[in-house]
Amino acid sequence: MSSSRTELFRSIKGTFDILPEPSSSDDTLIAGSAAWRFVERKIADVMDRYGVREIRTPILEPTALIARGVGESTDIVTKEMFAFERGDTQYVLRPEVTAPVMRAYLQHHLDQQRSVQKLFYIGPCFRAERPQKGRYRQFHQFGVEYIGSSGVVADAEVIVLMIDIYRALGLSDCRLRLNTLGDESARPAFKDALVDFLRPHASKLSEISVRRLAENPLRILDTKSAEERAILDEGPRLIDFVPVESRERFDRLKDLLGGQGIMFVEDPFLVRGLDYYTETAFELESDLLDGAQNALAGGGRYDLLAREIGAKTAVPAVGFAAGMERLFLALHAASSALQSDAAPELYIVVLGEKAQEWASVTSRALRQAGVRVEVDISGRSAKAQMREANRLGALSVVVVGDDELQSGVARLRDMANAGEIEIRLDAEALKSGVASSLPVVDPEATR
Ligand code: AMP
Repeated sequence: MSSSRTELFRSIKGTFDILPEPSSSDDTLIAGSAAWRFVERKIADVMDRYGVREIRTPILEPTALIARGVGESTDIVTKEMFAFERGDTQYVLRPEVTAPVMRAYLQHHLDQQRSVQKLFYIGPCFRAERPQKGRYRQFHQFGVEYIGSSGVVADAEVIVLMIDIYRALGLSDCRLRLNTLGDESARPAFKDALVDFLRPHASKLSEISVRRLAENPLRILDTKSAEERAILDEGPRLIDFVPVESRERFDRLKDLLGGQGIMFVEDPFLVRGLDYYTETAFELESDLLDGAQNALAGGGRYDLLAREIGAKTAVPAVGFAAGMERLFLALHAASSALQSDAAPELYIVVLGEKAQEWASVTSRALRQAGVRVEVDISGRSAKAQMREANRLGALSVVVVGDDELQSGVARLRDMANAGEIEIRLDAEALKSGVASSLPVVDPEATR
């Protein structure tokens, strides 16, 4: 047996705890849980208004679903999956949620319930990336999938919905980058042309781009290196491989967005790292985030995914995925006021055992009636309880001891203006006392 003391355990690098209070970990500020709930609620409110309903899928998925769905040659599948085996089943901690949502859609025949399913999710994803600011191993995504419509209006609505979520949170200054990848035919031909063009330049490419040239050449277009950019500028353009119908479709999308006052920049290099996209591709960036991790959200049309994961026919779909942590980083950089925990409406300061007993019963009745109540549970002194009420920002305080119990009356103090009223010591009276705006009374005059 080891004689050394057990080390204090820490969370795994690239993962973090969401605590009641904001905290910081690995150079990143982590918002408190109340702020998470506030943001999640705002997101859900916008989804409601668009008629988008929530779907919750498992964290564990079959590895093959992700490998097939996301694409065998993608970074996610080649390097970033947390995958393991148990018995003869291969599991993966989901690295994204689009393939799982499509799996659920097909598995449960959701097309039979509605011709277009508008679905959203919020939850953790896992990727074995090198942890850095804005890039973690466990992170959270929210996203939307419109499944069952091939119309360009669906693409526009998904984009507008995404923008409206950031607006609802006070982030109106994001940059929408837009591109068309064309239909199924465009990408393979473009890929070949790109490889043919880049091969003679291989000696000038970074190690990672050389690897991508063999594995997933389209990813090279994502490069941030100025030298590589300059080379690519001379190379083939995806748009030249895109059929005319796709170009017209793209024009229509731009018209639809323009008609709603949505600003965008066209980016011929935007291809996104995932294999399943066709036609529309987009990303939302914010200058509030650091360079390489400045993407808040990204998405596009993925009409090929359903067939990739076993559907007999193609299922048209369009959606986006967005990072929660990056959203919080942007909100923090914008100095947005995020909600903290709601303060107690009433703090009951108890003096003595009888009062404690009375407070247990009454606080429960009040809580059942919807009032946020705090009562001391550690047997602290009256002074310490008052200090705690102040620290918690309690809106009102009532002090209850033997005398108050005997008379059935106590004083309810409004902490904002130090006014006091007499209050009957029962849950009903306390509830209305707390709810009513208390009169401003000079405490000296009431003595
Ligand atoms: P993707 O599925 O890679 O397009 O990611 C969609 C969004 O999720 C990105 O725009 C980021 O906001 C976020 N995201 C992706 N990977 C990570 C990560 N490792 N850590 C934090 N956020 C991430």
